[in-house]
Amino acid sequence: MEIIHISAECYPYAKAGGLGDVVGALPKYQNKIGHIAKVVVPMYRTKFLYENEFEVVGKGGFGMAHYWLNYTVIKESTNKLGFDLYLIDINNLLDREKIYGYDDDIERFTAFQIAVVDWINKWEDLPDIIHVHDHQAALIPFMMQNCSSYRRLSVIPTVLTIHNAQYQGWMDWNKSSYLPDWDKWKWGLLEWDKTINSLACGVRCVSKVTTVSPGYLNELKYNANGLEMLFEYEKGKCVGILNGIDEEVWNPATDTYIATQYSVEDSDVGKAANKKILCDQLGLNEKKSLIIFIGRLVGEKAADLLPQAIADSIYHINGEMNFLILGSGDPHVEYQLEQMNGKFMGYYNSQIGYNEGLAHQMYAGADFLLMPSRVEPCGLNQMYAMRYGTIPIVRRTGGLNDTVKDIGEQDGYGICFNQATVGDITNSVYRAVQLFKNKKKVDDIRKTIMQIDFSWENSAGQYLGIYQTI
Ligand code: ADP
Repeated sequence: MEIIHISAECYPYAKAGGLGDVVGALPKYQNKIGHIAKVVVPMYRTKFLYENEFEVVGKGGFGMAHYWLNYTVIKESTNKLGFDLYLIDINNLLDREKIYGYDDDIERFTAFQIAVVDWINKWEDLPDIIHVHDHQAALIPFMMQNCSSYRRLSVIPTVLTIHNAQYQGWMDWNKSSYLPDWDKWKWGLLEWDKTINSLACGVRCVSKVTTVSPGYLNELKYNANGLEMLFEYEKGKCVGILNGIDEEVWNPATDTYIATQYSVEDSDVGKAANKKILCDQLGLNEKKSLIIFIGRLVGEKAADLLPQAIADSIYHINGEMNFLILGSGDPHVEYQLEQMNGKFMGYYNSQIGYNEGLAHQMYAGADFLLMPSRVEPCGLNQMYAMRYGTIPIVRRTGGLNDTVKDIGEQDGYGICFNQATVGDITNSVYRAVQLFKNKKKVDDIRKTIMQIDFSWENSAGQYLGIYQTI
């Protein structure tokens, strides 16, 4: 089967979060089990782009509103990623430093989607499946089915994977002229709540929708940023498939980002060595438990609760722990977290920014990973943490609920709480500090979580099952 994944991110070329990780791993595992999976992404100016060889494999042009846009398709030449990676270059529009965050993101990703459809339409042999990811690619199925120039593509079955339904690609109706000549009586497919909603349109037009965990799919029926009714109505075509983790990238025995590599057998020594390096570098105390947070500093991740929860924990639990934060996002939260560096020196450190290497070292050196998320479609961090023997402290939501079992339950291996509140976080930190005093139990849990099977093989098989049904 030939499967074309279309996405805004793909690790290691361009990653802002879990979307990049998944699109960089799933196609690799699909290829491993005998299929042909390829990935198409916009061309940004990332380090990977400059450090690798690419060749031109396609060119074309299309009108978008009053503009004519030319595109070039380049392909990574060595197949070092385990799948063919194609980048769509549209001068001045896509070739920017960052993936998102520009005022014209709507124009950028609409143009990207038109270019992809235009290019695939030129292929002699059409692929078996078009698999689009999140709202930045969710208008593609609509274009394949309802734009006069691309109707040839309407026979290809389509899948939309929702990694995050909070962001939906809203677009004013006055931008509907961006779309290539389309059947105007189909406007209802585009609209949700008086505006064009790319994600809603994708859900309506595709053959199957998947979410990145079964728990998240259930949640979408009552918490989907306005699309709850749609998910209830379309539930027959929706399936939740838990993400896997890329064992070639996330393996403490081979990870070249971390100072000391280790496996289950020598995890106590390996983690202690990695913790020491982190603590020495960042002014923390290696004898106390080390609790980390890695992620986008946004409301979804409940990052706004961190400053108060950390301050309360340090005061009320007598500073019996260290905190280390890595992330970027809301400037106000960034500021608050940075201010705390001076106030809680010795107990706390925050690193504002994106740092892949430090993230790996933190998973390896920490004792606990905190994820108080208000919304968590799957959450990869807790799975990476477990693979590295770091015990997760998570709010019971979405994929966190699907992957972590509380130590109070039989065979439990994590700390779970119900509410995204300062009180619940502080209480869970207290439980972690108590657990940390029981070295034998911590060691047993570590060995257990490092061996949980979060591999992609299982999930990749489930995706293929879905393709076969359509
Ligand atoms: P989301 O996609 O919602 O941001 P996920 O848990 O699905 O959250 O994936 C987050 C991914 O991004 C993980 O690989 C995590 O390690 C990484 N990540 C997030 N923030 C940072 C950061 N500041 N520096 C390095 N890696 C980060």
